[in-house]
Amino acid sequence: MKTKYILALLPFVWACNNSTKEMKEEVEPKKAIDAHSYADPSQSKVTHLDWDAELNFESNTIRATATLSLANSSEATQLILDTKALTIEKVTLADGQETTFKLGKEDANLGRSLTIDIAPDTESVSILYTTSPTAEAVQWLNPTQTADKKAPFLFTQSQAILARSWVPIQDSPGIRFTYSAKVKVPSNLLALMSAENPTEKSADGVYTFKMEQPIPAYLLALSVGDLEFRSIGDRAGVYAEPSVIEAAAFEFEDLEDMIVAAEGLYGPYQWDRYDLIVLPPSFPFGGMENPRLTFATPTILAGDKSLTSLVAHELAHSWSGNLVTNATWDDFWLNEGFTVYFEQRIMEEVYGRDYSEMLASLSNQDLKEEIAEMTAKGEAVDTHLKLDLTGRNPDDGMTSIAYDKGYLFLRGQEELVGREKFDAFLKEYFTSNAFKVMTTEEFVLQLEDLYRKNELSMDREKIEAWIYGPGLPADAPQPSSNKFSLVGDQMDAFMSGTPASELTNDNWSSHEWLHFVRAIPEDLSLQKMTELDQAFGFTKSGNSEVLTAWLEQSIKHQYEPAYDRLEEFLISTGRRKFLMPLYRAMILTDEGKQMAKAIYVKARPNYHFVAYDSIDELLKE
Ligand SMILES: [Zn+2]
Repeated sequence: MKTKYILALLPFVWACNNSTKEMKEEVEPKKAIDAHSYADPSQSKVTHLDWDAELNFESNTIRATATLSLANSSEATQLILDTKALTIEKVTLADGQETTFKLGKEDANLGRSLTIDIAPDTESVSILYTTSPTAEAVQWLNPTQTADKKAPFLFTQSQAILARSWVPIQDSPGIRFTYSAKVKVPSNLLALMSAENPTEKSADGVYTFKMEQPIPAYLLALSVGDLEFRSIGDRAGVYAEPSVIEAAAFEFEDLEDMIVAAEGLYGPYQWDRYDLIVLPPSFPFGGMENPRLTFATPTILAGDKSLTSLVAHELAHSWSGNLVTNATWDDFWLNEGFTVYFEQRIMEEVYGRDYSEMLASLSNQDLKEEIAEMTAKGEAVDTHLKLDLTGRNPDDGMTSIAYDKGYLFLRGQEELVGREKFDAFLKEYFTSNAFKVMTTEEFVLQLEDLYRKNELSMDREKIEAWIYGPGLPADAPQPSSNKFSLVGDQMDAFMSGTPASELTNDNWSSHEWLHFVRAIPEDLSLQKMTELDQAFGFTKSGNSEVLTAWLEQSIKHQYEPAYDRLEEFLISTGRRKFLMPLYRAMILTDEGKQMAKAIYVKARPNYHFVAYDSIDELLKE
């Protein structure tokens, strides 16, 4: 509630940069606005990054000059940036003169502040630096860790606060800047960024980039590899390694339909092109909404377009998150809850309500499970939509709360207000707040407006219970799927003696299969597990969602015929969403824990920092 005061002050503060000393003191608390950045944008603020970099695949380092243009209307004499494990060689001002700088004390999560001495009229600074081989955002892959096994590969993952490990920058979601870049890589490789991209390799390995729409640092992204491009629509295309490009182009065929559906709902797509890159399997997330170029895991290439809701999700971020951005990681649900809501609406538009309700039901199962687990561990406070991640890694807030509780809250609002009015509200929300920052409190004020304009009364207590209270309020919407009821009937029939081979499962989608596997009772006998596997080939499944659910069941039921596949899957996949439930299931028994540790020794080198950081923690006892 206190935040509200700070927020009310903000526009005033930013409009009055020539304020007196007293005024500056008065607004001191604003530093608490983003607990995960050392930067103080009310002093000097970065408005543009020009990045000139050379990548070294021998030493796994990037040597670069970052030239930062500044808005310094408060005439500050210092510029404060975020860094992590960077070696700073020198800093020069626009006139080429070297200036002094100081690195602050190391913090495990935040890294080190870089304070640069500037003059009140300094327009830009240039920082010459080298990244560490273990830079947390950057993953350097050997040829053997790629699909084609011929060339090395690199990708970055900057969200939440890892951009600072490869670029010295004001690394806060509340600070936006445009960027340009020149990147030199080995000449057999293609470089891509979250910017206007090339579609072909250059002869000399030098690429230039431009991002003219302002973005926060967590959307800075780079990927380099033996990549090909395939157009799949007027403004959409896909990049992947040569052996993957065909499958990728097929899987994402419906992309243009999704863009059209999204624009029909909430207004024009504002980033010109929408391309996707399919990364090697060690990418720790399903997807990352890097503007103009979504980074995607190859685990969504199911061969039947069944897992492309992830693309709808990343596309939706082009509005929620990339256009209207959470002010701090405590407001992360504004990015993700809106995106899941928007994703659901795109899926409903393109594939129908029956289909999108299956997706909503599956997410709801995950959400309820996670709330129960977090509550049992005494972490109920992290089941609030609005978080307090001060002093912690913002990754702690990346639970299904932000995503699926956020979604249910917005769906509940839609049901209360009516779809037509809620859609008009969202369209206006994305338009009038485009390229701006949003706080939870500001969103509630805008929601209040919606109620007022439509002469509806808003139940403030209920809204606050959703945002500042634990778990799921009693009025939470209930996604329900007829198709899943039919799946449940088949599981009942199996349990009452119908052989697996005689169950009715014609035309089941992978979501129905997933629901079926999740419904396997805890006390199912090994004989019946074997029967299911023989009838439906779960251990051999090429669908990563179904496979993960089956492997989790296999661990819990000690169904050993699946263990070889389990090991192979854990070594070859780095997507945290799949890794966590499998390792978690293994450590429930002593025997399983030993197995987990033995597999992890082989698998860990293939994981990105984001993934192994979580699993190190899980296996440390
Ligand atoms: Zn997302």
